[in-house]
Amino acid sequence: MAERGILAVVSGFAGSGKGTIMQELLSRYDNYALSISATTRAPRAGEEHGRHYFFVSTEEFERMIREDALLEHARYVSNYYGTPKAYVEEKLSEGKDVILEIEAQGALLVREKYPDAVLLFVMPPDVNELYHRLKTRGTETEEVIRKRMARAAEEAELIVKYDYLVINDDLDECVARVRTILQASHERTGRQAERLNTIKEQFKLFLKEEK
Ligand code: 5GP
Repeated sequence: MAERGILAVVSGFAGSGKGTIMQELLSRYDNYALSISATTRAPRAGEEHGRHYFFVSTEEFERMIREDALLEHARYVSNYYGTPKAYVEEKLSEGKDVILEIEAQGALLVREKYPDAVLLFVMPPDVNELYHRLKTRGTETEEVIRKRMARAAEEAELIVKYDYLVINDDLDECVARVRTILQASHERTGRQAERLNTIKEQFKLFLKEEK
């Protein structure tokens, strides 16, 4: 049986570039699976159902909540977002490291349910850079950008609860740092209870034989 994968949560302000980092990670390595969220937000130009998100109606989303099909969900700037549970569980048991790209409220809910999850927060070098990135992306109106900036300020308060804060100043370096963090997480003692028990048993046997 494959060793169970790691659940990694990656959050970052809208415009932090976390999406690009995740795409790079996925294209370079084959041990990661990116969870696809459900949302009630309308698709942006170029976004595809089942690839970027599962775009669903509010009724459908609320049905998923009732049926306990979501690992977590949150509201973000007037829309629902949530992580379908089945895919995450399936990939973790296949031994894949599963990445959830979700906002802070959801991230903290994941931590409650999966205390082993690794939480990373990706941030651009400064706030002006963030505003600039949202502006040049050109997918949102000024009003929505303002709301997203306000939400980012709220989210900043929750960053201390994350395990890692990664500054996205250079894409390649940032991808490398995230990769290192995820690899190191495999070696955490909490994940190696079985190995630890075996060693302890071996010590017992050894000391018994010594007598
Ligand atoms: P966007 O509308 O820009 O695609 O996403 C808005 C925010 O919702 C981002 O911070 C994104 O990471 C977050 N998000 C996307 N999917 C989920 C999800 O399944 N659960 C939660 N809690 N947040 C999500």
